[in-house]
Amino acid sequence: MTEHLNHFIAGTGVEASDGRRIALVNPVTEQVYGSCARGTAEDVDRAVAAAQRQLEHGAWRQLDGAQRGRLLVKLADLVERDTDMLADLDADAIGRSPLEPRRLDVPNAVANLRAAAGWANQLEGRTIPTGGYFGTKTLSYTVREPVGVVGAIVPWNSPLMITVWKLAALLAAGCTVVIKPSEETPQSALHLAALAREAGFPDGVINVVTGYGAEVGRALCEHPHIAKISFTGSPEAGREIQRTAGVLFKHVALELGGKSPQIVFDDASFEDALRGCTLGLFANQGQICAAGSRILVQRGIADRFAAALADAAQAVKVGDPREPGVQMGPVAKKAQFDRVNRYIQLGIDQGATLLAGGVSTPERGWFVRPTIFANANNDMAIARDEIFGPVGTVITFDSEEEAVALANDSTYGLAATVWTTDLVRAHRVAGAVKVGAVGVNCWSPLDANLPWGGVKTSGIGREGGFGGALAYTEEKVITVLLPK
Ligand code: NAD
Repeated sequence: MTEHLNHFIAGTGVEASDGRRIALVNPVTEQVYGSCARGTAEDVDRAVAAAQRQLEHGAWRQLDGAQRGRLLVKLADLVERDTDMLADLDADAIGRSPLEPRRLDVPNAVANLRAAAGWANQLEGRTIPTGGYFGTKTLSYTVREPVGVVGAIVPWNSPLMITVWKLAALLAAGCTVVIKPSEETPQSALHLAALAREAGFPDGVINVVTGYGAEVGRALCEHPHIAKISFTGSPEAGREIQRTAGVLFKHVALELGGKSPQIVFDDASFEDALRGCTLGLFANQGQICAAGSRILVQRGIADRFAAALADAAQAVKVGDPREPGVQMGPVAKKAQFDRVNRYIQLGIDQGATLLAGGVSTPERGWFVRPTIFANANNDMAIARDEIFGPVGTVITFDSEEEAVALANDSTYGLAATVWTTDLVRAHRVAGAVKVGAVGVNCWSPLDANLPWGGVKTSGIGREGGFGGALAYTEEKVITVLLPK
């Protein structure tokens, strides 16, 4: 497959202003298979101008919520029609099995678009009783207005789904957008923009500028006509965005990383917990923000559970995800391969017991062996840092209090899972862990109607659900004097 991808601005493909390009590399073969435009500040300017024109003077501004909703339904239908193609685009770009995006990412994106279609017509204001104005009665009411032009900055691990989380909500609210996909995975965002055009969205509502974070991302954060930055990615980039967009008083929503605990009590269904922990560790090669990579297991079952996890890791067939029977492809890029191996070596050096996997030697394709450490403690780098690869760290605990303390002893707070058959304890622990989302006997349930986001270093704000659409509005209050 050879691809020559350009920006999508005001409904047409556009080269970078200086003609420069970024090579796209296949993680399975390490071969260059195409390129995308390397965006500039000038390109961002052009895209923001197109988005602003639609927001202030275009046909988009004239549409009411029901009409925006109808366009969202059409877009959902087109995304559903192109499920296989979109799944392939996302999977091939990062060496993931296309089955995962086919079953999860694309259906989730479709569901988000359909849910947002309903919210578009429900962004209602309030009437607020007041004491009047210097003795004269007043009528005060609020309206929800679109926040403005949004800069949506997206990572490479689930490009379509994460783009749609932002897009569906901001379109429901009546905003327009410039999307900056990851430099590694621009394909599905560009196809999505083309589908939006086919659905009937006016040109300029959805624009895509491809390129690097330090160039396109930064230019969006600094642009005077961007009202909100919605970012998903690493805490390091999130911090940088706070420094650039935050000081300019833009709204900033940050969906960042995690080091999510899976808390396995000794009364849990062993098989269910094992299946859930394996999924939480190895889906998408562990390159998931909510990856359940910190596995806290009660002492009575800890050795048996760690051994079973190690067996599961060894049974995973690693290879070209396009080959039959292969369950895990390579990690997405060379930098990720080096990072994951560095952490595996750190785990060994810091004294954890390596039960499965280990440091992988470089060969063709960035393949990492599924790895399980046992007898670890919460101070080790493999327990504290987000590795973003197929590496699980098993830590033993004795009491519920200790489990909660270990779970909360993290700079992150994205998600947690509680495995137990004791319902009272399940609710107690779910209430005690400091995270944005808890699964009880299920790892990381995602649904278009549920809010998603983290606390602490895992981010600020929520996407999804009705609140996700509200987050792209400003509440304005209007007071009318009512003299007799
Ligand atoms: P990243 O931070 O390197 O890049 C994310 C995006 O931000 C890319 O488009 C990149 O080009 C851009 N970017 C980088 N630096 C920037 C800057 N200074 N200004 C503006 N834009 C900038 O992250 P990544 O490696 O693409 O993704 C992995 C990270 O994303 C992990 O930490 C993972 O946990 C996180 N993530 C979080 C969620 C969530 O919902 N919380 C979901 C998926 C991924």
